[in-house]
Amino acid sequence: MRFFSTRGGEPVSAAEAIVRGISPSGGLYVPESYPAVKPSRNGTVDYCQTALRVMRGYLPETNEDSLREMIRSAYASFDTADVTPVTRLSEEESVLELWHGPTMAFKDVALQMLPYLMRDSLRQTGEKKQVYILVATSGDTGKAALEGFKNVEGTRVLVFYPEGGVSEAQRLQMVTQEGNNVDVCAVRGNFDDAQTGVKQIFASGEIAGKLAEKGWRLSSANSINFGRLLPQIVYYYTSYETLLSRGEIQPGEAVNYCVPTGNFGDILAGEYARRMGLPIHKLICASNRNNVLTDFFERGVYDENRPFYQSMSCSIDILISSNLERLLFELSGRREQTVCEWMRALKEKGMYALPETALAQLKQIFAAGWCSEEDTLATIRRVFEKTGYLMDPHTAVAQCVYERYVLQTGDRTKTVLLSTANPYKFASDVLGAFETAGLDDFANVERLLNRTGAAVPKGISGLAGKPELHLDVCDLADMPNRVVKPISETEK
Ligand SMILES: *Cc1c(COP(=O)(O)O)cnc(C)c1O
Repeated sequence: MRFFSTRGGEPVSAAEAIVRGISPSGGLYVPESYPAVKPSRNGTVDYCQTALRVMRGYLPETNEDSLREMIRSAYASFDTADVTPVTRLSEEESVLELWHGPTMAFKDVALQMLPYLMRDSLRQTGEKKQVYILVATSGDTGKAALEGFKNVEGTRVLVFYPEGGVSEAQRLQMVTQEGNNVDVCAVRGNFDDAQTGVKQIFASGEIAGKLAEKGWRLSSANSINFGRLLPQIVYYYTSYETLLSRGEIQPGEAVNYCVPTGNFGDILAGEYARRMGLPIHKLICASNRNNVLTDFFERGVYDENRPFYQSMSCSIDILISSNLERLLFELSGRREQTVCEWMRALKEKGMYALPETALAQLKQIFAAGWCSEEDTLATIRRVFEKTGYLMDPHTAVAQCVYERYVLQTGDRTKTVLLSTANPYKFASDVLGAFETAGLDDFANVERLLNRTGAAVPKGISGLAGKPELHLDVCDLADMPNRVVKPISETEK
């Protein structure tokens, strides 16, 4: 199995693609083919077994027993044996909960696994340098990467997050992080700024040289890394198998998946599952006010020239959707020249347009919609009052978009809604769906508990009173310096 860069260059092995994170041409690595995997009809669903079946085709050089062991260790940190449980909401709709890992957001599914894949890839490539994981986060990736890589030998992590652009629980989770190889810094800018800064650092030969002198080599834990995407394909399969095992669908029956997405990583994993043979009717792309993707799927024009809004579903507050490039690669008929032209237009004019045929092709698979802040709150409240199920703001965005999709299309296909965070990660906003929230986040957690009775995860109650260890803030222009001179180095 070779991996191509969406912008051209030599193909590489899976291990090389994972160690590098991004290709030297600035493109993303994509597999040369999509291994066919049939959903199992085995009565009981075993997450680890399905994970092995889904992942091994992409990692032919990895020993199968070690892969099985890696999967088992990675998902042992989840609070439930089924790892990503499925709950039925209505006749047509089920919720796939992706937040039972240590940081209570869906990023854990990938980032508990990535350190194992990274270590195995380092061994395979014979890399002697320390891997330096650089992360730009819109809130959840940062903490999940810190948790996944903390104290992992041969690695260090630096996380940049937008100052004021994450929820209080997300901020606290990051700044209280312990571990001997971790570093966190706020950036004066929004997530797109931070992500662009990180991409520029990756593209800089000068910085790579300075780091090499220290014995470090940069890599990425953002969803541009194929090692992030791969574990996310798994839960599309396990949720399908769960519906099968419960008799809610028949073998071969196609289902819809509705996904709150910004960087297009989570939903792209669904598209990969579809290409591998999972019966999927529609992938529904749900956005908040930052609706650049909704417009893209409607008109075939990607136009990032628009205001950036901060919303309560902050993990999808994104205008530059990195993983879309992997979809574009397929749409172009795997022509890297075409992808390069679109990406150049995006860089120079902030937009590009697809040909009609490509747009028509997209619409066969994808639907899209967006919802406002008011809609998000109203949805949280309405769903809770109707079903007793409490959703976080991201999940609510998907729910609202799904309801409108059904109204518009009449499509009654069984649908799985991807729930990407525990509601207590956004306690103040979620409380606001029911009553006026106060300024104290922890008091709001209590009030939300009293109001809804939904269990408070240990990871949230445990945050109160923890020492804040990482309070550094830097300007965008200073990010390269901050990388070359991490605080943990200068203190030593
Ligand atoms: C990261 C994140 C998303 C979106 O993930 P994409 O990679 O952009 O698809 C959605 N919800 C939550 C809670 C997240 O943390």
